[in-house]
Amino acid sequence: MNTDYQVSKCKKCGATLSEPKNEQRTPCPVCGEMGRIHEETLKDGIAVYDHMRMKGKHGGKGKPFFDARVGADYYFKDKEWRHLERVIDRDNNLYVEIIKDMKTGEIIKEDRGPLTDHQGHGPNRVGPS
Ligand SMILES: [Zn+2]
Repeated sequence: MNTDYQVSKCKKCGATLSEPKNEQRTPCPVCGEMGRIHEETLKDGIAVYDHMRMKGKHGGKGKPFFDARVGADYYFKDKEWRHLERVIDRDNNLYVEIIKDMKTGEIIKEDRGPLTDHQGHGPNRVGPS
């Protein structure tokens, strides 16, 4: 996925909108306004929104042994908000990823297993860290 997405707010009603950057803009789905307030440009199709993040390090050095994220992610591909929980626990070689539908609470993806299975193709995300 190399499409650049533009995340912006509707000038009129303030709805948060995400649109492919290089494509022609469409009117706001809420109020029909064409004007936007631009906030940031994101890559890789995932916006990180309102995340909680926890990290643990041994003695404050090296890679964190514990890394957890809980929050809402907007998946441009599906045009849906998803609830995401991801825990990386290096001490226990554990990886957990749970993605739920924000509206129904239905689990879309549940992935648990040894962390070593996930190395080399880990999360490549854009957002606050
Ligand atoms: Zn609007």
